[in-house]
Amino acid sequence: MSFVAEFNALPRESLLERCQQTTVAAAQESLRRSTLSLTDFAHVISPAAGELVEALCRRSQALTRQRFGKTIRLFAPLYLSNECINNCKYCGFSRDNPILRVTLSVEEVVREARALWQEGFRSLLLVAGEHPKFVSRGYLQECVRALHEQFPSISLEVGPMETADYRPLFQAGAEGLVVYQETYDRDVYADLHTAGPKRNFGWRLETPERAYAAAFRRLGIGALYGLSDWRLEAICVAAHAEYLLRNCWKAQLTISLPRLRPCAGEFHPLTEMTDRDLVQLVCALRLTFPDAGLVLSTRESATLRNGLIPLGITLMSAGSHTEPGGYTGAGQQRIHHTERGRIVPLTAGASEWAPNGARATGQFEIADERPPAEVADIIRRLGYEPVWKDWDAALTA
Ligand code: SF4
Repeated sequence: MSFVAEFNALPRESLLERCQQTTVAAAQESLRRSTLSLTDFAHVISPAAGELVEALCRRSQALTRQRFGKTIRLFAPLYLSNECINNCKYCGFSRDNPILRVTLSVEEVVREARALWQEGFRSLLLVAGEHPKFVSRGYLQECVRALHEQFPSISLEVGPMETADYRPLFQAGAEGLVVYQETYDRDVYADLHTAGPKRNFGWRLETPERAYAAAFRRLGIGALYGLSDWRLEAICVAAHAEYLLRNCWKAQLTISLPRLRPCAGEFHPLTEMTDRDLVQLVCALRLTFPDAGLVLSTRESATLRNGLIPLGITLMSAGSHTEPGGYTGAGQQRIHHTERGRIVPLTAGASEWAPNGARATGQFEIADERPPAEVADIIRRLGYEPVWKDWDAALTA
């Protein structure tokens, strides 16, 4: 049975109600258990459990150190293209946003990767909007092939595919697949995804399973917080994680916790998730999924990221750019607009979007702008080890 069937049968509303009405005593009881069920998870993220955040932090910290040691794995997103055929109201790359676009050539992708290598990164997340014309399967394969000799860990965050299309990407050297459901609230999902294949909620939800069937062994999931009630999203993420751990058990699971950031299109969050809520969720996820990687990106401020390092996070990006060519300026000379899949060259000085030396538009604004070396330094000063490389293809030979 696919997760879609389990998701359809999941008593989401009653779990959310339990969560909202939980008492501190019930939350405490759930917190004490060595193995947390989905109901326990709902208790631990409840408003009542807000009073228990310090106890939660202590348990989460101890469990994370026991399972992962005092390490934080570092990775960098490398944006290949900001072309997209979808309209997602909350995303700067949406088809109808008149942004500056570009798709890097394979040589330019290698140039960007070299710059990241110089910074110390050995783990890359290749990111692209969904546009079969500009970001074809063949193009993605070429990018992975060109990088995998040098980079021991390459993950993808690109438009969902069929299993048969994932296989050549795995064979080319990609080992991880990241796909956020964005929101697990079907009504909100339908409202926010106004055009393009991404409108198919179930197809997206089954993506990690298709990637697993193609042999991907790192699977990343998450919700984008700020679109629907964060507790409802978290319950669904937990149910999804539980399903993947049961059914895709050979893969390592990571869970990301992105909160909405400002972007082109000026979408504003529909719901609030405070810093304290985020801390509570990180700890609740750790207690429920002791071996899952928990990912924190540069969407969050330096202060909050520093504070979360000892509490349960195990992977962080650093020094990120969310525009193609962001690390070296690659592709700058080919920046254009795209209308109905057609490239529209910029006429000099004719666009307020293209002042001299402009770069492609980023997906969203980042909050932590510290260079990677500074992030690594603070990780060390907090008593943790920054890990740039934790896997090598030779280990699986
Ligand atoms: S969220 Fe993804 S699919 Fe949606 S517009 Fe942005 S890049 Fe495209």
